[in-house]
Amino acid sequence: MADYDYDLFVIGAGSGGVRAARLAAMSGAKVLVAEEHRVGGTCVIRGCVPKKFMVYASEYKKHFETARGYGWTIGETSFDWPRFLMEKDKEIARLSGIYVRNLQNAGAELVHGKARLKDRHTVEVEGRGSVTAAKILIATGGRPWLPQELPGIEHCISSNEAFQLPELPKRIVVAGGGYIALEFACIFNGLGVDTTLMYRGPNLLRGFDDDVRSFIAEEMEGRGIKVLLGTQHTRIEKTATGLSNVCTNGHTFEADAVMFATGRVPYTDDLGLETAGVELAADGAVKVDDFSRSNVDNIWAVGDVTNRINLTPVAIREGQAFALTEFHNQPTTFDHDMVASAVFTQPQIGSVGLSEAEARHKHGKVDVYLAKFRPMKETFYGGHQRALVKLVVEQGSERILGCHVVSPDAPEIIQMAAIALKMGVTKPQWDSTCAVHPTLAEELVTLREKYMPPALGQVA
Ligand code: NDP
Repeated sequence: MADYDYDLFVIGAGSGGVRAARLAAMSGAKVLVAEEHRVGGTCVIRGCVPKKFMVYASEYKKHFETARGYGWTIGETSFDWPRFLMEKDKEIARLSGIYVRNLQNAGAELVHGKARLKDRHTVEVEGRGSVTAAKILIATGGRPWLPQELPGIEHCISSNEAFQLPELPKRIVVAGGGYIALEFACIFNGLGVDTTLMYRGPNLLRGFDDDVRSFIAEEMEGRGIKVLLGTQHTRIEKTATGLSNVCTNGHTFEADAVMFATGRVPYTDDLGLETAGVELAADGAVKVDDFSRSNVDNIWAVGDVTNRINLTPVAIREGQAFALTEFHNQPTTFDHDMVASAVFTQPQIGSVGLSEAEARHKHGKVDVYLAKFRPMKETFYGGHQRALVKLVVEQGSERILGCHVVSPDAPEIIQMAAIALKMGVTKPQWDSTCAVHPTLAEELVTLREKYMPPALGQVA
């Protein structure tokens, strides 16, 4: 091997980059990590972690209501947004510090500054100069995408700003129908903001199971969120009293803030990737093989910048597989099949495997088991929140192809279900598991009746 300053240069200290850098450094390799913002990446600084704190904060509205139903006297409640932000920032700083220490303890070096490739082995880091490395890992993640051509888009915020709003708006519009739009609509609603969710399509959360999609829309409406489907902005105008939302359905209404959650794009701008000959897909993602290697054989990419499955644990596993392969002599790939996902709406969604539509498309005949019900915690006090559990099963093999849950703690439930589905569990094996009583999750192992949609049921 030629002489390089480092064995590995990692661009981006988020979930994927940090895992790869630590594991590589633990093999004795000389590793440098460059980060232009704060260590921790989207997940820790402006994504999953602060979002979950906001979810926790916003869930109290419902908890107070439930508590009253169970006999508690709760006086007037109020929420102190600046105080919450201060506590949130303290905790994020602590977690970011842990990431820094973990890198240092593993023996990796960290440099703050924007890094750009000058050629396939040379990286220029602002404030540090040129550095050479035998291997380079791109782990720069993604960033929010907003329709820049939309008139008035400059008045709108993305999730980045939503984590730092100086004060909570009284009225907000959230545009988009994906993970981020739904999670933030529920957060704002829970914090007492008059919330409108505006989505261009007929049903939220494209790609999820259709029953889950319609169910979550109903539940969100049940909690007071105005869900506008089949419409989008034609423009946003600043007025004396707020922001005017002009929509394709002819309606115009005002809000104090408009948040766009219309997707994220790989962060590959201005990295010098073209200079180094790294091939990008049309959406800007680094094209990689199963080992996360790009077309340039000493450059790899992991996480959201590759736009495979854009989830933190996936980035971590991709980074780990890279480091094991390249620095521990253990060729490893990450299997992207049966990756469970969660949407932290209220109620929450947990999903693993195929939706019913995907299963019918890929496997032909499937049986569906579905229950919608009010959990006992709700029935006790006349609460209205419902839960949904659904299994999609291949006919013949009886293999469970998909499991979908909408309920409080659905992500916790789906984490366990994912183990069984990943192992190829069949419905009889699933049913042989004794229920844990009284729980909400026991409904999953007591689904006996095949579900027929009402129209089909009548025909049969
Ligand atoms: P998503 O891809 O989930 O959703 C984007 C939404 O924006 C879709 O509803 C899409 O509509 C809509 N949209 C796209 N372009 C336009 C446009 N021009 N005008 C109006 N609407 C538009 O992206 P998110 O930003 O919500 O999240 C990005 C990714 O981050 C997720 O896919 C997920 O991988 C990850 N994430 C995961 C979370 C978790 O695990 N809980 C939480 C947050 C993010 P359409 O469907 O019609 O295309």
